[in-house]
Amino acid sequence: MEETKIILDENEIPKRWYNILPDLPEPLPPVIHPGTKEPIGPQDLAPLFPMELIKQEVSQDRWIKIPDDIRDVYTLWRPSPLYRARRLEKVLKTPAKIYFKYEGVSPAGSHKPNTAVAQAYYNMKEGVDRLTTETGAGQWGSALSFATSLFDLACTVYMVKISYEQKPYRRSLMNLWGAEVTPSPSTRTNAGKKILEENPDTTGSLGIAISEAVEDAATHDDAKYSLGSVLNHVLLHQTVIGLEAKKQLEKIGEYPDLITSSCGGGSNFAGIAFPFLYDKLKGDKKDLQAIAVEPMACPTLTKGIYAYDFGDTAMLTPLIKMYTLGHDFVPPGIHAGGLRYHGDAPTVCLLYHHGVIGATAYHQNEVFEAATTFSRAEGIVVAPEAAHAVKLVVDEAVKCRKTGEEKTILFNLSGHGHFDMGAYDAYFSGALEDYEYPADLVKKALEKVPKL
Ligand SMILES: *Cc1c(COP(=O)(O)O)cnc(C)c1O
Repeated sequence: MEETKIILDENEIPKRWYNILPDLPEPLPPVIHPGTKEPIGPQDLAPLFPMELIKQEVSQDRWIKIPDDIRDVYTLWRPSPLYRARRLEKVLKTPAKIYFKYEGVSPAGSHKPNTAVAQAYYNMKEGVDRLTTETGAGQWGSALSFATSLFDLACTVYMVKISYEQKPYRRSLMNLWGAEVTPSPSTRTNAGKKILEENPDTTGSLGIAISEAVEDAATHDDAKYSLGSVLNHVLLHQTVIGLEAKKQLEKIGEYPDLITSSCGGGSNFAGIAFPFLYDKLKGDKKDLQAIAVEPMACPTLTKGIYAYDFGDTAMLTPLIKMYTLGHDFVPPGIHAGGLRYHGDAPTVCLLYHHGVIGATAYHQNEVFEAATTFSRAEGIVVAPEAAHAVKLVVDEAVKCRKTGEEKTILFNLSGHGHFDMGAYDAYFSGALEDYEYPADLVKKALEKVPKL
């Protein structure tokens, strides 16, 4: 019998993360201070992040050691399994070989604890007592709540008010792990108070919640801020996914022709793809294809512009060169909450700009259709975010059926969808709307991108 799962031993959890910064086709453009318009330095970030993470953010070292205490926590769910999706291959009658790395086995149910644990650890080491963060649908908030509980840190989560009211179970999960969850906008911060005065009935947004979490950390000495995607150190921590997958594929003598995953801020895409892109950037594996998949309702790479923009709505964060839909673009309310960000990680954007990686966008009904096909073949319930990658995989596999090509496809199944059954209900009852790419909204938001 051929293997379905390729499993590694605990002692094969990678000992180093892969840092792509020294291997990029050109140096990453500097992050710019919004006031001075000069590149920011470590001291500008010190109120928000511990020094070790600031160092990792700009490090030119290709390999960064994973502390034993972090590897020890990783053993709670890592190494994660690599599956061969044989049953899906059969259903699709494809000669392609489909492999997926499954990150839904983590306690919070997604890849996000890979960085949450590392961030909580470095903050604990530097004497921080409390972490603040924002969360939309609650995936990042629950990952950080889990991680802070392991290192005896307090955790304050600003949760977008509409999700706080509509998604009570992710909130319960955060409470279970000991976090304090506040609906945002709140009266705990000046940013929140100001927005509530202007618009008492607002349902909140991720951009507003970021502003509150940043202000809370910046105005309290005991607290620092934590972000779940986009930043270089977050992507660095996620490379544990691709490093494991590489070892797993090596064991069975395989190497992918195509790698894909969903792209919200870019961290799980980077996590699975960067360790393989290392080979491509070195000049080996020139034909390796890596494709990031985004929603048609928030098509950052496929329809955005490559420019300096703010990371948040209130224009508090530094300016980052990235593909952006404009910092005050509010995407339509699709069910893949984790993919509704106006920008993307600067490294992912730079690689896209140079044509090293590709990108594509899908509507949510076709995405849920592919996820349903997948679940009926493989059993696992796919998170709506991860389902975007499944759609691309199904399309590629069907293409291979027509051409006879035996492509080896690898994708990251970034999380399970057990908290997303409401979205599946909406799909089954025909209540899901496909939003045409909101060109007017994007055009308006892009007018607000600062001119440097
Ligand atoms: C948050 C999330 C994403 C998107 O975030 P990235 O930073 O792009 O990885 C994708 N899948 C799941 C399951 C998530 O929770």
